[in-house]
Amino acid sequence: MKQSRRQFIKSSATVAAALSLSSLSAIAKTKRIKSSSKMKLSWTPYDLELRHTFTISGFSRKTTPVVLTKIEYDGLAGYGEASLPPYLGETQASVIEFLKKVDLSAFPDSTHLDEILTYVDGIAINNTAAKASVDIALHDLVGKIIGAPWYKMYGLDKTNVPDTTFTIGIDTDDVVREKTRETLGRFNILKVKVGGPDDKRMIEAIRSITDLPLAVDANQGWKDRREALDMIHWLKEKGIVMVEQPMPKLDLDNIARLTEESPLPIFADESLQRLTDIERLKGVFSGINIKLMKCTGMREAWKMRNLAETLGMKVMMGCMTETSCAISAASQLYAGMDFADLDGALLIANDCFDGATLEKGKIIANDLPGIGVKLTKNISFER
Ligand code: MG
Repeated sequence: MKQSRRQFIKSSATVAAALSLSSLSAIAKTKRIKSSSKMKLSWTPYDLELRHTFTISGFSRKTTPVVLTKIEYDGLAGYGEASLPPYLGETQASVIEFLKKVDLSAFPDSTHLDEILTYVDGIAINNTAAKASVDIALHDLVGKIIGAPWYKMYGLDKTNVPDTTFTIGIDTDDVVREKTRETLGRFNILKVKVGGPDDKRMIEAIRSITDLPLAVDANQGWKDRREALDMIHWLKEKGIVMVEQPMPKLDLDNIARLTEESPLPIFADESLQRLTDIERLKGVFSGINIKLMKCTGMREAWKMRNLAETLGMKVMMGCMTETSCAISAASQLYAGMDFADLDGALLIANDCFDGATLEKGKIIANDLPGIGVKLTKNISFER
């Protein structure tokens, strides 16, 4: 019985892909995906080991804690992830505490993404990475139930994606040159963390190795608008193509003036978390950096992308240090965006998923259903 139902659902996948996402639950209702089984959510903490010590304006670290999630249903399993860089306030303990409150047993149909994820979002305020870990696992599961990768359900061409940047952290000239050399031939654009006292020296060190386009991320590090504008003009001369979060996140008046005068597009990162933040940033920034961990996952990221584009803003897809699980989730929905910063899984030494891969400088989703991941390590999930 199970087999024939799966076959039937699979044959409906082409139809599902051609329809809008909001029609998904309607399909599920009319074709009635019935099951007596209930969704089971489980999780495990996991520590990512970074290949290089990572320094941005104000912070330095060698590991990133994450929590991996799994939602099982009717013999299928969807995987998710919460990545927890320490400066964002969530911890493995806070994520697990949140996940313990999530009761999916009340939802008989796992394809009702909107209903389920609205419930998850309402459990507590904040906890965006914890919510993302449920959202990603549920998207993975639903894609597996329907038998299609999400990029197809979004109606996107998975190869029409921007080159991913690869991040060079703040470091000594020798290390910066060595890191830059390691990227040659693999990437078409690099990202430089600036906002420290040695920005120009860093850029010159990179420029001594490569002429590749560069994105810069100041992580709020520039405090004076005039100095920031002078710096941006200098950066443009050096082949920089975009600037991320130049000034403190709440200093919107100065950022708006900077954006108006800047010869390069200015993107919001720290100034923005979720969907409801976007409208007030129109006219302040040229574009927004969408990250699954900040915005509670794929469902809201998709809405943010559409709203920003409707408002005439540029869009980029970003990430934290993450395994190929969350990166593969992001890879499903960023085709057609302006920039991408999806190097998270490339920065770690102990990835535990196979998923989207780096191909000629782009992160490309595979054709597996859901978010397209396979667990490659023997990890046990518990509840
Ligand atoms: Mg950033």
